Order: sequence, then structure tokens, then C-alpha cells
Amino acid sequence: MRSTFLPFARPDISEEAIAEVADSLRSGWITTGPKAQAFEEEFAAYTGAPFALALNSATAGLHLACLALGLGPDDEVITTPMTFVATVNTILWAGARPVLVDIDRETLNIDRDRLEAALTERTRAIIPVHFAGLPCDMDAIEAFADRHGLAVIEDAAHALGARYRGRLVGSSTRQRHVTVFSFHPTKNITTGEGGMLCTGDEEVAEKTALLRQHGMSKGAWKRYAVQGTPHYDVHFPGLKYNMLDIEAAIGRDQLRRLEGFNGRRRQIAARYDEAFTGLPGLILPGGAGYDHLHGRHIYTPLVDIDGLGLSRDTFMARLRERNIGTALHYQAVHLFRYYGETFGWKKGDFPAAEFVSDRIVSLPLFPAMTDDDVSDVIDAVRAVCLAKGA
Ligand SMILES: *Cc1c(COP(=O)(O)O)cnc(C)c1O
Repeated sequence: MRSTFLPFARPDISEEAIAEVADSLRSGWITTGPKAQAFEEEFAAYTGAPFALALNSATAGLHLACLALGLGPDDEVITTPMTFVATVNTILWAGARPVLVDIDRETLNIDRDRLEAALTERTRAIIPVHFAGLPCDMDAIEAFADRHGLAVIEDAAHALGARYRGRLVGSSTRQRHVTVFSFHPTKNITTGEGGMLCTGDEEVAEKTALLRQHGMSKGAWKRYAVQGTPHYDVHFPGLKYNMLDIEAAIGRDQLRRLEGFNGRRRQIAARYDEAFTGLPGLILPGGAGYDHLHGRHIYTPLVDIDGLGLSRDTFMARLRERNIGTALHYQAVHLFRYYGETFGWKKGDFPAAEFVSDRIVSLPLFPAMTDDDVSDVIDAVRAVCLAKGA
């Protein structure tokens, strides 16, 4: 058994990134400035997004996407119950109403075959979440959106570097279409906290640029820099969602390492797949019936709680006893108290999400894991599965 604790995720920050942060700290310019702008340009070049706007979180990005797309009271926004609550909370802070559609049991993504049934005359947008980094079937979702005049906001917090039919997530040039990435410490790349909003819609990009800094027509960098003018105007009452240069300094280095990170994530996931195929006690996620490259943000088997006679939480505790960290992504959104009380959502409403919510566990997956770390996880999982209810 391992003698030290293995966390489920750990960021990998290079000495170069630390030096770049120190450089910003010493330069006299630490908030949004040249590095944030360079990060945006490099991110747009990588993803192929026409516009990329750096923000202080993906939550900010989802909120601004809703606002820039004009979503508000009386509007309904379709999304999935198998997501982080940010997806639903930002719909609410835009004043709109979330409408959940159950997931597909194989992909854990929103079930494209149930979308039409969720439509009302108030539906204005859909927020697909690429769960664990497996891209949603975007052809089906975009066709649905086009048929009904809906905006699309991809919650791509898990999916930086993932591809759908060869195209990088975030590369869409469609109008009224936005993709949001997260740089939280557990995500595929990190800036500490941070996010990026990508779009091909120039009007949405311009609105987002205003809304992220109080609706002011020029950011501080442009006002205070040598060539700047001190004047600005306010176009709408905006928020304060800009990314710092000290964050962008980390992000630029992380972006250069992304393909390497994701390659390592895929190697680890492939070892898990091989080790766990046929292991009683685990139910492995299924495939998608379309061409894609998985982002492998998290590795999430389902615990066969009936077969093992163990709850998922007990399974997690058994791994913890063996010094293996795990995480829970996610408890189905509709079962949290606030939403139940507000929207009347209850157990039984989304059976596939509930089945997954009771069984899902995130095993350790991060690029700096050694082959021995991976073996330790495999050994511990096998031991817990084969010990059964003991
Ligand atoms: C992490 C995450 C978010 C929020 O990202 P932040 O950068 O922490 O705001 C939103 N949606 C999903 C699916 C996430 O995993």
C-alpha cells in the first residue's frame, strides 16, 4: 500500500511560469495588461476561435455569455443536471430559467434525443457540457439550435484540447455561439483561477469585453499605458471579471504545455481502461458513436453499488484508507435543496443523472502522476472491488 497520499488532481506549474509571475510582480503592472492580451491571442491561435476573452473564472464566462446573448427574465435555457452548479447558477444570475434535460447513460452528456421534448415557446438557448472532456454531439445540438433559433453556450470547462469530428472545442465560428473554458487548478490547464470565453460572434465578443470591466469602453491597460487616453464611457452596467497579468503569466506557459498534459492524461486513462475492463464492481463509461478526441479532464467510472454492496461514499472511503484521493463530479444538480424548492425538481425527474450521481467517482488523473502512482490506484481499486462488502 502507498505510504503517501495521492490527491485526485494536482496542478503542474513550471519554473518558467513562476519566473513569469515574478516578472509581472516586479514590473509594476500586475492586473490585466500585456500578458492577459498575449494569452488571449495565443489562446485564439491555438483553438482557432476568432475572439478569445480572458476572465477571472469560467463562472464569469458563463454569466457574461448569458448577458451578452441577451438572455433574461422569461427566457428558458436548456442544460444538463450532470454538471457543476456554476452552469445553472449563472443562468439564474442572468435572470433566466434553467430547464434540465436528462443525460445519456453512455456519454454522461445531455441526451440529444430528449431535447425537442424540453422545448417551449420561451426556450432561447442551450448549454451543453462536455462531461469529463467527451465532446457532446454538437452536430445534433447545433441542428436543434438552428431549427428553433437558439443560442448555444458550450460549457467546455472539461474540454480544452478535446476535438469533435476533428475540430477543436472552442473553434466554432457560428453566430450566437459561445464556448467557455475554466482554468481552475484541477482543470486541463490552470491560472490559479481563471476562464476564457471564445466566440466567432463579433457583437458577443464586444459586449463581453465591455461587460467584464464595468461596461467601460476601454480597459485600464489602454487608459494608463503610454499611448492611452484617460477618457472612457459606460455602455452598460458591467461586472469586474477581468483576468490579472499574474494569472495570464501562468496560463501562457500552461497553454504551451497543454498538448503534452493531455497526451499524458490519455495515457493514464488508457491504462485505467485496460485494468478496469471486466473488473466486477466498476461500470466503465461508454463510448460516443461519433469521431472525437477525448479531453480526459477527469476519469469517472461508476461504482456498481448493487453488485459490491457498498455505497459510492464507502468506496471512496476505502480508497482513502489506501491513501488514494478521489472526488465527486457531480451530485445531480436537481437534487440540491435550493433548486428543488425553487423549481419543484425532485428525485425521479432525471433517472439517468440520478443513477450516475449515486455511483460516479473521479479517480486520480493529472499529468504529473507517475506510472507507479497509476499502478497504486489500479491496485487499490482492484483490492476494494475484490474485497466486496468486507
Ligand atoms: C469548473 C467548472 C465550471 C466553473 O469553472 P470556474 O472557473 O471554477 O468558475 C463550470 N462548469 C463546469 C462543468 C466545471 O467543471
